[in-house]
Amino acid sequence: MSLRSSARKNGRFVLPGERLGVIEEFIPDMGTYVRDGIIYSRVVGRALLDLLNKRVSVYPLVHGAKVPKNGSIVLGQVSNVQTQNAVMRIFRIDKKQFSGFFTGILHISDVRLRYVESMFNVCKPCDIVRAKVISEKNRTYHLSTKDRNLGVVYAFCSRCGHMLELKRKGMCCPRCGKIEKRKTVLDYGGGVG
Ligand SMILES: [Zn+2]
Repeated sequence: MSLRSSARKNGRFVLPGERLGVIEEFIPDMGTYVRDGIIYSRVVGRALLDLLNKRVSVYPLVHGAKVPKNGSIVLGQVSNVQTQNAVMRIFRIDKKQFSGFFTGILHISDVRLRYVESMFNVCKPCDIVRAKVISEKNRTYHLSTKDRNLGVVYAFCSRCGHMLELKRKGMCCPRCGKIEKRKTVLDYGGGVG
């Protein structure tokens, strides 16, 4: 084990702003934020490095009781995509961290003001999406991305997993060259804050 990796032990105590890794090696999850490709802790808590799924998260030591409401702006990670809808795991509500587990559903009619043919051109699994809660029923939160500030914040290549870059003709993977489509936010890649 190198010095670098041994310094990032699982379960270690971290403070807000503490460096956890880079987005090339980890998917930022609950309790983290990204600036210039570097993943930092948002909260006081325990860092959890999921080496199998390449995720890094921080479990807060101070728990809040925040739950999504209508109108909340949430961040979620896409877990499943079908033609008509996408399912995501919400990990932040109104810029606040929380310790619960909430599922969000984005239906194709709530993606844009205009018609969208397929959800596969909107987002893909592992993407980070900023969306607005438009309704809640039985603890399932229905989301909308009908705004220039809402949509995919970070997209990852479905072939090699590298973060996609936003080019004039679409999303492009700088590593393998794959071209993909997304409904991105105006400030795509600019951070999850
Ligand atoms: Zn790629």
